[in-house]
Amino acid sequence: MKVARFHAPGDIRVEEAPEPVAGPGELRIRVRNCSTCGTDAKILKHGHHHIRPPRVMGHEIAGEVVDGTGAWAPGDRVQVIAAIPCGTCGECRRGRMTVCPNQESMGYHYDGGFAEYMVVPAKVLAVDGVNRIPDGVGFAEASVAEPLACVLNGQELARVGEGDDVVIMGSGPIGCLHVRLARSRGAGRVFLLDVNAERLETAAALVRPDAAVHAEGGDSAVEQVLKLTEGRGADVVVTAAASGAAQEQALLMAARQGRISFFGGLPKDDPIIRCDSNLVHYRELTIVGANGSSPAHNAQALRLIAGGAVPVADLITHRLPLPEVLDGIGIVSRGEAIKVTVEP
Ligand SMILES: [Zn+2]
Ligand SMILES: [Zn+2]
Repeated sequence: MKVARFHAPGDIRVEEAPEPVAGPGELRIRVRNCSTCGTDAKILKHGHHHIRPPRVMGHEIAGEVVDGTGAWAPGDRVQVIAAIPCGTCGECRRGRMTVCPNQESMGYHYDGGFAEYMVVPAKVLAVDGVNRIPDGVGFAEASVAEPLACVLNGQELARVGEGDDVVIMGSGPIGCLHVRLARSRGAGRVFLLDVNAERLETAAALVRPDAAVHAEGGDSAVEQVLKLTEGRGADVVVTAAASGAAQEQALLMAARQGRISFFGGLPKDDPIIRCDSNLVHYRELTIVGANGSSPAHNAQALRLIAGGAVPVADLITHRLPLPEVLDGIGIVSRGEAIKVTVEP
């Protein structure tokens, strides 16, 4: 079968590999869609310390069961989690599965979905990491449940709710999902902000924020958000961009008692930002992080897609066969697409 394997930074190869065989307690699936995201672009460029090459990449996975186990039978349509919590440590036992220190990932520790066939490890099944795709939801849409699950985790932690003015910084696929999810949670007004005018325009045409804010550097982003919010600032600011400058601006555009989600991580070699601690103190700000998603978030994300609360079909702008996966990652890293999905 054909797979896309990571060998080294800058070296992802589409090559032939033997079909994997499911061991006891494992599931084998025919991958139908595996979507790409900024993480794949990052891995291509820099590699990742958890990936031991050669490794089949791909972590936004939907497919069809070929060899079943337990409750799963051939033909079942399934979505698979990406981040695998251990299920037994102190954090997992407290229900905090997104911060399990023993977390492993599909496409990192285990071969992922850029392949015709993939084995779902027993560890994934043990934490309810396989979800039945509801009727009416396509494989491509189901593959977007994983990034939506991460967005859901972020908005739960930032307590996005009824009547909130929400600013999303970054109009990539994650930013688009944040806009839609915030709406479904009853946000008052949702503003989408980006430094890239072209990308912002494309995204805004799809997800229709209350205002699209083109940030031109300096204080422009903060000033525009303050103007849009009658000087209050936003109740929630989400940085969906790997930008320390965005994080610093987020602190300045948050309303009193505002919540700031540092959703996108910063480059490992440049993770320090300037934070006026007195702003946090006097304005009673809450800064939260976000690290992936739990199996329950994935299940809920699928329900949000199936019920129409968070439509994702129109966000999938490119569908490519597996041999073109590198083109897909290129399109993603140049910001030319909303969501690129690979159909092995
Ligand atoms: Zn992803
Ligand atoms: Zn754990």
